[in-house]
Amino acid sequence: MNARIRRRRGAACRWVAAVLLGITVAMTGCATTGSPLPPEAKPLSNGTSQPSAVPGAMTAPSPSRTTPTPIRTVAPGTCADGQPVRASVDPANPMPAPGQMPPGSAMAAILDRGYLRVGITTDSPPFGSMNWRKLELEGFDVDIAKEITKTLFGTTDGRIRFQAVTTDERINTISRGDVDIIVATMTITCERKQKLRFSGVYYESGLRLLVRRNAGFTRIEDLVGFRVCSTTGSTSLAKLKNLPQPAPALVALERAANCLVAFQAGQVDAIATDDVILAGMAAQDPYTEVLPAAFDHALGNELRTLEEPYGVAMRMTGNTVSDDQFVAFVNGVLRNVMQGGRWKQIYDRWLGAELGSTDSPLAKNANWPH
Ligand code: GLU
Repeated sequence: MNARIRRRRGAACRWVAAVLLGITVAMTGCATTGSPLPPEAKPLSNGTSQPSAVPGAMTAPSPSRTTPTPIRTVAPGTCADGQPVRASVDPANPMPAPGQMPPGSAMAAILDRGYLRVGITTDSPPFGSMNWRKLELEGFDVDIAKEITKTLFGTTDGRIRFQAVTTDERINTISRGDVDIIVATMTITCERKQKLRFSGVYYESGLRLLVRRNAGFTRIEDLVGFRVCSTTGSTSLAKLKNLPQPAPALVALERAANCLVAFQAGQVDAIATDDVILAGMAAQDPYTEVLPAAFDHALGNELRTLEEPYGVAMRMTGNTVSDDQFVAFVNGVLRNVMQGGRWKQIYDRWLGAELGSTDSPLAKNANWPH
C-alpha cells in the first residue's frame, strides 16, 4: 500500500470514527423514544403542577435555611399587566381554509415562501428528537408543528423546515425572525411574554428532579453538597437559583442531553427540568429515577410554582394587529387539535401509554386560552 492510499484510508477511518462518535453522543439523548416512560414522571395531578401542601413549608423554614426573594410579587399565575400568564388571543373563528390565508397576514407570507420554519428541540424525547433509524425528527412538539403546517398548506409534504434550537437560543432565534414559530418545550412566562408572543397552553408540564436510583435522595434539600444540572436559559435553572440557601451547586449546560451525558459520567448528581424531558431521560437509563415530589418543600408555595405550561412561541414584530392575527390562527389550530381528539392521539402516541390518560389543557379549562 503506498503512502497516499494509507493517508486516504487513515482519513476515511478518522471520518467514520468521528461520525460514529457523533451518532453515539447524539443517541445518548435521542434514541429511545419508543421506550417505556416511568410512571413517576407522569403529569402532576389536576392538570396543574401545584405540589401538594406541605404543612409548615416556607412559612416556617428551618433556622439554617434563609428565605429567598419571591419569584413574583403579584398573584400566582398573573403577570404585571394583570393578565394571567397563560392568557392568549382568542382562536380565529372561522379559521381560514388551507392554502387561502388572509392577504397581508403572516400566514400568507408563509404560504408565499412555500414552507413553515419551525424551531424545535432535537434532543428531548418524547417531545423533540431525531429518530436515527428513519432520519426524521419526531415527538409531541413535532406533531404539533405538523398540525400547524397542515392547516396552513393542507399537507406537510415539503412544507416544513425544522431548525434545531437549544433552550437558550429560542428567544433570539424567534426574535431575529429566523423561524416562524418555536415548538420546543417552551414554558410560557411573564418575563418571556415581554419579548415574544405565545399561543394558549398545549401541554401542562412541571419541574421535577432526576437522580440515580437508590442514591438516597428524595428532596432537593438532600442534594446540598452535590451538583444539579439544568439547561442554560431554562425556567428550571431560574427556579433552582431561587432555592433557599444552603442549596446544591448548580451546573448549567447547553442542552438537556448534555446534562444526561454529564450525569452518566458522574460529573453531576441530579438533573432538574420538566417532567416529560426527565421521563425521556429515565426511559433511556434504567439506573435513574424521577423523584415525584423533590421540590414540594423548597418551592412549593404559591409564589414558587412548579408549573411549566408549554406554548407555541411567535415573534413580536411591533405590528400588534398582525401578530394577534398569527397567534389567533395558531390558537385556532390548537383548539381544533384539542377539541377534535387529535391531541389525545398525539398524547397517547408519545406519553399516554406509559403515563396514563390525561385531558388536554382545553378540556381542563373551559376558558382556554384565557
Ligand atoms: N420548559 C423549559 C423552559 O422553557 C425547558 C427546559 C429545558 O429545555 O431544559 O425553559
